Amino acid sequence: MACFLGVASLYSAGTGPKPRILTTITPIFSWASAVAGTNAIVENLLPADVGPHAFQLRPSDLRRIRQADLIVANGLGLEDWLDKAIGSNRGRSKAPRVLRVTEGWNLQLIHRLPILEIDPAAKPTDGHHHHDDDDSTPNPHVWLDPWFARHAVSNLVAAFRAIDPANADSYQARADAYQSRLASLDRDLRESIDRFPSKSIVTYHDAFPYFARRYGLDLVGVVEEVPSVEPSPRYLASLSKVIRARGVRVIFTEPQFDPRLVRQLSKDLGVAFAELDVLETGPLAPSFYEDGMRRNLGTLRAMLAK
Ligand SMILES: [Zn+2]
Repeated sequence: MACFLGVASLYSAGTGPKPRILTTITPIFSWASAVAGTNAIVENLLPADVGPHAFQLRPSDLRRIRQADLIVANGLGLEDWLDKAIGSNRGRSKAPRVLRVTEGWNLQLIHRLPILEIDPAAKPTDGHHHHDDDDSTPNPHVWLDPWFARHAVSNLVAAFRAIDPANADSYQARADAYQSRLASLDRDLRESIDRFPSKSIVTYHDAFPYFARRYGLDLVGVVEEVPSVEPSPRYLASLSKVIRARGVRVIFTEPQFDPRLVRQLSKDLGVAFAELDVLETGPLAPSFYEDGMRRNLGTLRAMLAK
């Protein structure tokens, strides 16, 4: 009967190669592999210890991009290097199929940093970054909002079903189970954070505006407005003023950055510090997203619940 197999059913269980999915960043890997199960091969383009802000494509990455049946990216300007790579592949082979999980998520994107309101003159002028190359570039860190994660999983399951219809039911069943875990993650975050007496926080780089807005945290500022660019003394003075005025009780570092500056700031201001994970690096595992978000919830609870 093999002669009747269509292209799609080449991927049927046991009869052909499994679809190769290439994700860009660890949260997307985590969602994609939770939905894929054993029906597809999911790989992540970025090594587990390299975040999207620092990443540079290597020649071997171009090969992986060419070989993928589906590339899953964040979008919103986070993966400029991917757009370039796909451009350079054009004409040499079939263009790879790309899903940006932010497709269809146009509502309420955040374009500006809250910290800009403090003192525009204190804004660093050197360096540039995807966040604020211009004011119309949205902040890309949507994955820290579990409601966004649910949207991304819907996009993923639709794409998986389309490239591998023979296993559509399996993908759907795993996606449905994962969606209910995301719903309970959201419920736990909301119930805890609602009860915090103090909701003012300062984070290291500009990664938490969507998370803060979702759960009513008051993100009063960030330490490094431009990732990897040392903030100026003037900027830090403005930030310190705001931390005192708003009664901020904790400044958060991130595992991807050197905590020295935050440690010094917290000592100078007599404010606690702790680590929140932006989930830009970490182990490539299906449970990575939930584990990281729940670890962050534990940290927030420890620092702000009383
Ligand atoms: Zn970031």
